[in-house]
Amino acid sequence: MPETMSGSCKCDRVKFQVAGPISMAVNCHCNSCKKLSGSAFSTLVMVDRSDFKLAGGDGEVTRYQVSDRATKYFCRICGTPVYNEHVDLPGKLILPVGALDNPAIVTPTLNAHCENMLSWVPKIMQMKNFEQSPGG
Ligand SMILES: [Zn+2]
Ligand SMILES: [Zn+2]
Repeated sequence: MPETMSGSCKCDRVKFQVAGPISMAVNCHCNSCKKLSGSAFSTLVMVDRSDFKLAGGDGEVTRYQVSDRATKYFCRICGTPVYNEHVDLPGKLILPVGALDNPAIVTPTLNAHCENMLSWVPKIMQMKNFEQSPGG
């Protein structure tokens, strides 16, 4: 895993760099992650806050108070989630893997909140697989 990772939002205004290693990578299947990502689950990586630096678009990053313990930061123009904070993880930031410019460098090692995992998720590779959109 490279020591410096970069990330950006979809509209490319918000950019960030992470100058240190990932301490954990998880798939979270909780219902909050479903809403916040708009998808079936979130793949999240944990990094040290001291390694994280916004490298552009500071003015475009806005926040949503998810609960009294968790805050989501995202691009106010395109909506891409950039990072999350949780009071139980001081000194850490939780980044959605899709915000990384090279998400392929991350391999999650565990699934959290499996009680809320959608039943089709474990069968995903048994579905018909296409190189590109089947609609052409
Ligand atoms: Zn954006
Ligand atoms: Zn979650």
